[in-house]
Amino acid sequence: MTLDHVGVAVRTIGEALPFYTGALGLSLVHSEEIIEQNVRVAFLKAGQSSIELLEPLSNEGAIAKFIEQKGPGLHHIAFRVPIIEPEMKRLSDLKAPPLEPSPRIGAHGRRVCFIHPRFCHGSLIEIVEASDA
Ligand code: ZN
Repeated sequence: MTLDHVGVAVRTIGEALPFYTGALGLSLVHSEEIIEQNVRVAFLKAGQSSIELLEPLSNEGAIAKFIEQKGPGLHHIAFRVPIIEPEMKRLSDLKAPPLEPSPRIGAHGRRVCFIHPRFCHGSLIEIVEASDA
C-alpha cells in the first residue's frame, strides 16, 4: 500500500490554510464539499502524498464530533490500493474489518472505506482506490 494522504480535522479550512500554504509551503490542489459526510475538504500536495484538511459543515457528523471531543488535529491516515474490494476482504480476514461492507464514495469521487482505530492500534485508517484503476 502507498501512503495517499493524512487527514487533519480543522475548525475551518480558511483559518488553517495559511499555515499549510505559508509556513509549510504546500500547494492547495483541490477542494470540495462532501455533503453525505457533512464536510468540506481541501487537499494540499506534499510530495507523493497529500494533506487533507477536513472542516465540518455544521455541528453534525463525524468530523464535528471528533473536534468537539478531541479538538482539531490528526484524524486519519489513508493508503491507496489499485482495487479496493480485495483489500477489504483481505483486511476482514486479518481481523481488521472495514466499518461498512462495501466502499463509499469519498473525495475526488474515489471509492473508500475506513477501519476503526480499535483494529489499527489507535489510528483511524482509510483505504482509497486509485482513481486510475
Ligand atoms: Zn481522507
